[in-house]
Amino acid sequence: MFDTQTLPDNVLTTQLKKVVNWARRSSLWPMPFATACCGIELMATASSRFDLARFGAEAMRFSPRQADLMIVAGRVTIKMMPVLQHIYQQMTEPKWVISMGACASTGGVFDAYATIQGIDQFMPVDVYVPGCPPRPETLIEGIMAIQRTIDEDGLPKGPRRPLQVAVQPSYHPAAQPAAVPLTVGGQAI
Ligand code: SF4
Repeated sequence: MFDTQTLPDNVLTTQLKKVVNWARRSSLWPMPFATACCGIELMATASSRFDLARFGAEAMRFSPRQADLMIVAGRVTIKMMPVLQHIYQQMTEPKWVISMGACASTGGVFDAYATIQGIDQFMPVDVYVPGCPPRPETLIEGIMAIQRTIDEDGLPKGPRRPLQVAVQPSYHPAAQPAAVPLTVGGQAI
């Protein structure tokens, strides 16, 4: 029995694994593998406007041993793939992989012998983020998909199996803002 006199005013009970998973999902450390234009959107995701820090995943690490979330942003060539695999193998377990953009997921428009036509042919991919490039909101949705999996105690057990979650596109094409009307001598042209 607890002595209620010695307990503080506020007591919270939970399960240890819930606390551990909460800490894990709130402190993802990404390993950015940005090779092309998608990398710029990745940078924007971490900047003040989109503020990846709100999701606890802003601490980009360029050492794989300090990272548990690989974000592949951009096309990957055959020459680069051994390096990418090496970095992935050096990352700490449990670890996750996001394939960001059409090029990383499918080769995009670069249907060439030197470009990998989808990194999932060589490594497990947990979340595919669509777009060319994906908007930062879409990348954040991909990171949140991993966070939800960790919350549900979906940590890898046994042999590594990719989650293969596909984020739905968040961008709907719409008419661009009308151009400023041009006038010459007061007459619209
Ligand atoms: S998906 Fe589009 S934006 Fe991303 S690296 Fe390929 S060409 Fe660039």
